[in-house]
Amino acid sequence: MIRLDDLKAKTHQNLRSEGGEEIAIMLDSDAKVKAAIQGLIKYFGEDEDRKAVRLIVKGEESGWLTRSHIYDFVTFSAKGIGGGDDASIPGEYHYHIMHLYCPVEGCMEGFGVMIFDEDNPPKCPVHRDVSMVIKQ
Ligand SMILES: [Zn+2]
Repeated sequence: MIRLDDLKAKTHQNLRSEGGEEIAIMLDSDAKVKAAIQGLIKYFGEDEDRKAVRLIVKGEESGWLTRSHIYDFVTFSAKGIGGGDDASIPGEYHYHIMHLYCPVEGCMEGFGVMIFDEDNPPKCPVHRDVSMVIKQ
């Protein structure tokens, strides 16, 4: 089983998404990691220009996960290391991206999140005590 710490260990600092929309993935437990990887494989697979996503763990910035990092996990799983649980990564996983914005007037911060815990929304990178809200 791939754990949250395994994902965190793969992140890069000081990376940008190099244009396009900035997407974050939020995780707070090991239980969602497999679904997250499935979603990311689909996300990266749909557009060659998608290079990286931000990983937010328990509300804290962890860094950037790149396309090749995610594909590493698939290769890892295919070898059956750690049991057969993760061996199949079906292509039918459907992810949803929600768009968040900072509610402070004049603030331009906003990004999409792939898996979003509504009980624990991320804070605005500028206004550190303000929670981001979902754009309707
Ligand atoms: Zn803000």
